[in-house]
Amino acid sequence: MKNENTVTLKICPRCHKAYRGVPALSRADGQTLICPDCGTREALDSIGVEPAEQEQILDTIHRSMQS
Ligand SMILES: [Zn+2]
Repeated sequence: MKNENTVTLKICPRCHKAYRGVPALSRADGQTLICPDCGTREALDSIGVEPAEQEQILDTIHRSMQS
């Protein structure tokens, strides 16, 4: 199966991890494209969620997406 466009890995400038799929726009400058996880982190950060709790929430999101 050839589907190269959708499987292209991008590197997130925020967490430096490779990701695929639709990037999120960073709230920090409104220009930088970051991975969906960092988009979630920034959203949680903006409502005052602690970094440790942000990771727990991301973990929950990842698990619910797999099932
Ligand atoms: Zn990221």
